[in-house]
Amino acid sequence: MDFSLSEEQTAIFEMAHDFGQDRIAPNARAWEAEGTIPKDLWPDIGALGFGGLYVSEDNGGAGLGRLDATLVFEALSMACPSVAAFLSIHNMCAKMIDAFAAPDLRDRVLPGVVSMNTVLSYCLTEPGSGSDAAALRTRAERTNEGYRLNGTKAFISGGGYSDAYVVMARTGDDGPKGISTVYVEDGRDGLSFGGLEDKMGWKSQPTRQVQFDNCDIPAGNLVGEEGKGFTYAMKGLDGGRLNIAACSLGAAQAALNMTLTYMSERKAFGQPINQFQALQFRLADMEIELQAARTFLRQAAWKLDQGAPDATKFCAMAKKFVTETGSKVVNQCLQLHGGYGYLADYGIEKLVRDLRVHEILEGTNEIMRLIVARQMVAA
Ligand SMILES: Cc1cc2nc3c(=O)[nH]c(=O)nc-3n(C[C@H](O)[C@H](O)[C@H](O)COP(=O)(O)OP(=O)(O)OC[C@H]3O[C@@H](n4cnc5c(N)ncnc54)[C@H](O)[C@@H]3O)c2cc1C
Repeated sequence: MDFSLSEEQTAIFEMAHDFGQDRIAPNARAWEAEGTIPKDLWPDIGALGFGGLYVSEDNGGAGLGRLDATLVFEALSMACPSVAAFLSIHNMCAKMIDAFAAPDLRDRVLPGVVSMNTVLSYCLTEPGSGSDAAALRTRAERTNEGYRLNGTKAFISGGGYSDAYVVMARTGDDGPKGISTVYVEDGRDGLSFGGLEDKMGWKSQPTRQVQFDNCDIPAGNLVGEEGKGFTYAMKGLDGGRLNIAACSLGAAQAALNMTLTYMSERKAFGQPINQFQALQFRLADMEIELQAARTFLRQAAWKLDQGAPDATKFCAMAKKFVTETGSKVVNQCLQLHGGYGYLADYGIEKLVRDLRVHEILEGTNEIMRLIVARQMVAA
């Protein structure tokens, strides 16, 4: 058993880290205040191969494994977890097209997706269905030319911002087998967006409802086969969960690094606060927890890369454990900064706000427990 990263993996981490520190970190607060990420950032990220991280090389992607991808998200999140998480959603959609779309659709859209001139959003959640995603009601009715969409998607990251939407919609009966996946380009008649959601964190990513009102798309925009959309959507989520966990890990590591520096400079009672043993123990606990989270995350990613039968269970366990560890660590880091931790200038309070949602999306952490417990009971 070898726990070390290969030379190639170390290079991938460093490339993502350097790009993040150079191009994202200096702007993260401004983008948060503006409520948007400049669109021209994405083609530069695409040029690094990060627009199709696990899209096969035959289809123009980087062809990386899931473990490699977690390194990219861990490294980029050290600059800003909101920007990194948005890239994860794009990659989840890119992989669905790579893996399941017919050659016509794939060849038409993937080059733009991989280069990130086309930025994608993932549309599963609806106002009335989140955890119970298979209860979705958006309909895609067959027409002579293709499909006519009606319904509303809620909480869509990149809603009103992205260039195209990968949408799970009902083409058949109730239940998961009645769901299909379709590709909807921005600008289609009948596609509109709700108001900008005012959120706790992830503020640089616009979140809006995505609304379909007799929105027609051609038959060629069906991704894969009718009735398989829910399976495709769930397949994307194992990797999405690893990425979100990696985003928590990277941001928490960045917070711990900042805290170590701060504690060596800040004095109280005549000495740097890093000399108080009670606080040293907290530093040690955070280090232990983050190292455990990193090892667990990489094990889950390795299982997914191997196609292990228990990969889904491990992805769920890692998502729950790492996102909760990340939130706990950034909150502790805020505490160790005293009042300054509460000020935006010190960069910690943003991380507390950004990481909170990682416990809610890509399946809530209650749903992660459900996945784990069901498999335990069934076995
Ligand atoms: C900032 C943000 C961005 C998002 N981006 C996207 C996106 O891009 N695309 C997308 O499709 N969705 C997105 N979502 C939606 C997200 O995936 C859902 O919010 C999430 O799945 C939870 O669904 P819900 O909000 O409807 O909560 P509900 O499903 O209503 O859950 C409410 C509570 O009940 C618990 N619960 C529900 N069922 C069970 C159960 N069986 N057992 C135990 N507990 C249960 C939940 O864990 C939760 O605590 C985003 C959400 C946010 C906040």
